[in-house]
Amino acid sequence: MIVDEKELKIQMKNVPFFNYPALYAERSEVYDSTVQDVLRRGAYIMQKDLAEFEANLASYLGCKHAIGVADGTAALVFALRAAGVGPGDEVILSSHTFVATAAAVHHVGADPVVCDCLPDSMMDPDSAERMISDRTKAIMPTQLNGRTCDMERLMAICENHSLEMVEDSCQAMGARFNGTPAGLFGKVGSYSFFPAKTLGSFGDGGAVVTNSDEAAALIRQMRDHGRNPRGKVTLWGHNGRLDNLQAAVLNVKLAHYDEAITRRRAIAAIYQDRLNNLNSLRLPPAPDSDPRRFDIFQNYEIWAEDRDNLRTYLADHGVGTILQWGGWMLHQFDDLEMRSDAPFAEDFSKHFMMLPLHHMLSDDDVHHVCDTIIQFYQGQEA
Ligand SMILES: *Cc1c(COP(=O)(O)O)cnc(C)c1O
Repeated sequence: MIVDEKELKIQMKNVPFFNYPALYAERSEVYDSTVQDVLRRGAYIMQKDLAEFEANLASYLGCKHAIGVADGTAALVFALRAAGVGPGDEVILSSHTFVATAAAVHHVGADPVVCDCLPDSMMDPDSAERMISDRTKAIMPTQLNGRTCDMERLMAICENHSLEMVEDSCQAMGARFNGTPAGLFGKVGSYSFFPAKTLGSFGDGGAVVTNSDEAAALIRQMRDHGRNPRGKVTLWGHNGRLDNLQAAVLNVKLAHYDEAITRRRAIAAIYQDRLNNLNSLRLPPAPDSDPRRFDIFQNYEIWAEDRDNLRTYLADHGVGTILQWGGWMLHQFDDLEMRSDAPFAEDFSKHFMMLPLHHMLSDDDVHHVCDTIIQFYQGQEA
């Protein structure tokens, strides 16, 4: 059998969706010495590494307070509580988000209400406005895939209806809209340091950010069993602390964060360049397509015709893809009984998929993904 040389090369290449071992391998010596240093000091909970990371993160984002918490979901719960959301309230969120956004609303005693998203995957402000009722307390947009929603429109809606803005910015640490970082539009913003996030720890982790001294003090107390600085419990708290060991690792990673974002944006530019003229795909907006936005490309999510066959073809050629949220939009979890209206998200869920995008991919890897996709659709046309 004669195999075309280019075909052979394509068949041998392997681009998994994400490469967890590479996260450690890229700087293993530094991580080894960092972790050993923490272990030798016996510094596990709320030690100097956590304080240092919090100071570095606040300075990176240009805000007054960053507070390390257990994970992104804890960050969302604390942000909602600090915004005064509680029993009897409704919070409007987009159907295109992680269940954690809605679960956080549920766990503070309020009801999540689900609105639609736009073709760029972000919350649809018109749809959000239509879902407002006399119980609505907050709008909770997800800054999805490392991009920000139309924060001008959403902030105006909050102002007109006297609502709180509570961002789920777990996917968008460092993304900006009109110069303001995701997470700093409302009183308290949230980030997740799940390993596959743009700033990923070696386990679970998260942070909240705020410019309010009062909210910062409240959250420091909430993450530590409700204890105030004198040790007295003055409110119902949680065990929601960021591990000191993870904070030490995150400190190392934060120093290289800008490089990682630059690389992510460069990869997105390659995808844009190579795939933009395929009629069977709709791509996310290109890195520099909107002067108001700085996107950090947590994910590269596309709309694809014949998606399921494309995914199989890619898998057969060593390319890993995944469906965000396992392929389910929030309004499709009917057992959770959320009031919802999301016709666009319904259609989008049948076509959306994510291509590999992380800072450790080589240009060759990205071109292999592009070659394979082009080959799939050319084969269909032939
Ligand atoms: C990752 C993520 C979270 C929170 O995740 P954790 O696993 O709790 O850190 C919340 N919302 C969105 C949109 C996310 O992507």
